[in-house]
Amino acid sequence: MNHLFFKQYIAQTSDFPIGLEITQAEGVFVYTADQKKYMDFISGIAVSSLGHRHPKVVEALHQQIDKHLHVMVYGEFVQKPQVEFAKLLLENLPVQFEQIYLVNSGTEANEGALKLAKKFTGRTKLIAFKNSYHGDTHGSLSVTGRDIYRDPYLPLLPNVHFAEFNSDEVFDLIDHETAAVIMEPIQGEGGVIPSKKDWLQHVREKCSEMSALLIFDEIQSGFGRTGKLFAFEHYDVIPDVLCTAKAMGGGMPIGGFASSKQIFQTFKYDPPLNHVTTFGGHPVSCAAAHANLKELLRGDYFEKALEIERKAKSKLKGKGIVEMRGMGAMLGLELESKELTEKVVMDCFDKGILLGWTLHSNTLVRLAPPLVISDGDLEWALQTILGSIKKFA
Ligand code: PMP
Repeated sequence: MNHLFFKQYIAQTSDFPIGLEITQAEGVFVYTADQKKYMDFISGIAVSSLGHRHPKVVEALHQQIDKHLHVMVYGEFVQKPQVEFAKLLLENLPVQFEQIYLVNSGTEANEGALKLAKKFTGRTKLIAFKNSYHGDTHGSLSVTGRDIYRDPYLPLLPNVHFAEFNSDEVFDLIDHETAAVIMEPIQGEGGVIPSKKDWLQHVREKCSEMSALLIFDEIQSGFGRTGKLFAFEHYDVIPDVLCTAKAMGGGMPIGGFASSKQIFQTFKYDPPLNHVTTFGGHPVSCAAAHANLKELLRGDYFEKALEIERKAKSKLKGKGIVEMRGMGAMLGLELESKELTEKVVMDCFDKGILLGWTLHSNTLVRLAPPLVISDGDLEWALQTILGSIKKFA
């Protein structure tokens, strides 16, 4: 019944939704109304890094719900879950990050970061990358590098310039007019493409030279997914603004952008209250985010992400496979064709594994299992995926 009403009442984003009717989700598994069980090998698209309903997150949620829900718009009242979470996160980031502005989602984090960069620098030029994905609100879409998603909504923000990812052409674009370069250090929807270390370091240098801000969108790569708290740590490059969301809330909606006090000052004046949000940093989401982060820092999850990378890269080889890319548990398996990719994803689905492709690539199988996956479950999943590839390649 719910299944029928889903198509009738819930606005659809395509004619081909997966349409699983979920009754429960625990750890690495989701359970459906027709009594099936699926291993979530994409973590709800890089969200449930500690699995679904991690007990520590659920406990923190219960505790907060018994105290208070929403009480006031962002930034006015002292709300303990916000402060505790922000303190712990900032203590675990480089000293440049002194404050965080909390929002509800990834795209809002990017929106805030872009406004911040424009206001702080007094400039409007933005530089972004082809094949990037930064979200679907107008500002984030303006810096998303894929025409088919942009064209229906033109005109978008003016003065946005796109460069090829990992290419030197960006260096000529960064100049004294540039407010910011916004980028994913590892492109996610573009097909799990890590940036080259030297190149990224050079982008950092050029931004500093031109006093342009460097914004890293770590919405997908953040919170342990790549084997570090944030992917930038693999590169010895520190951005001016760090955008995060997805896995941040342990399954609850929250996002944020972190930067220095000096840069954030600009939001307080001309006029005051020029960037506000009603629900941003919701106390219940913050309680979950705090518990999630405490657990992430306590356990051996970063090591687990690296182990997932090692095992997946050594196991998934052979006919039909072009390349395995990515870092930690943010992996992409490039297959020979769109047809093969679809067959493998569907076959694995029939065998009880949720996989998917990325928004800008139809030959890439996204692999992003929760970091709580057991060795046995990981082994079974990789073996099953390999079996499907062998069957159709
Ligand atoms: N940036 C990146 C890199 C993302 O992967 C996503 C979501 N796929 C977003 C931004 C947008 O996040 P949200 O859907 O929470 O708005």
